Amino acid sequence: MFRKLFFTSCAVICSAFPAFSGPLNVTVTIHPVADIVKRIGGDAIEVHTLLKPGDGPHTFEPAPSDMRAIGRAKMIVIVGFGLDTWLEKLLRTSQNKGRVIIDLSTIVKNPIDIANDNDGHHHKGHINPHYWLDPMIMKNAVGLIERELLRLLPKEASNISKNASAVRGELEKLDKEIKTLIATVGNSRSFVAFHNSWSYFARRYGLNETGVLETSPGREPSATHSTGLLRQIKKSGVKAVLTEPQFSPRLGKTLAKEAGVAVVIVDPIGGVAGRDGYFELMRYNAKKFLDAMSENQQNE
Ligand SMILES: [Zn+2]
Repeated sequence: MFRKLFFTSCAVICSAFPAFSGPLNVTVTIHPVADIVKRIGGDAIEVHTLLKPGDGPHTFEPAPSDMRAIGRAKMIVIVGFGLDTWLEKLLRTSQNKGRVIIDLSTIVKNPIDIANDNDGHHHKGHINPHYWLDPMIMKNAVGLIERELLRLLPKEASNISKNASAVRGELEKLDKEIKTLIATVGNSRSFVAFHNSWSYFARRYGLNETGVLETSPGREPSATHSTGLLRQIKKSGVKAVLTEPQFSPRLGKTLAKEAGVAVVIVDPIGGVAGRDGYFELMRYNAKKFLDAMSENQQNE
């Protein structure tokens, strides 16, 4: 009750004296992107991340606290390409009309098409949304986030631009690091993943996504699809099936067992200790890919 009264009076005071406003409220859907936004905005912003650790981004359902954060937000950063459609739907009905929505997918120059679904049907214009796993695409995204923050927080301009340059530099460093690491992989550069999260990562680092188990999120693969994949694993010398902590490992484990290969857990979302930030998450995944493609990986 007291809290509610406090917020009501703050709302009145804050709108009467806009200078007394504190950090800018920003809402972001997924952790790796939220970390990049935080690094650029620094103390001038307060970031609320919608997905909790373990939540799958394709099927997320916001809690009441998330709804309040969405209501307060002055800036909302989405991944786009259909990943966070659930948020786009919410925004259409939200009363908060004064905020800026930044769709980072608008900076992706070479989006990857999702060619086929489970039944082999081609879906034109259906774009793979997992581009944040390519650090050089994220480097372009930094420019868009920077521009919008500069517009909303002109007094913070020097810090924001300094931070944005630093993040761009860190992303370049990370990219070189991953390239060097992946260069140690031999000729066998193929992998099978639970879902199509790694297409951009694979394109960037010269890896070959032989196939994915679940071609559309939340839908079990058909027996024909699984059998085809099993055949491909054997033919292409894939050494591991990659699964993700946001999905049940059951299907991946079954496929790996049948194919006689290992299971390696990779994580496109993070948000947990050890891979909370973008850079830790990417380094974690690069090492896991190395494990997945080397001869002596451990089964998880
Ligand atoms: Zn996904």
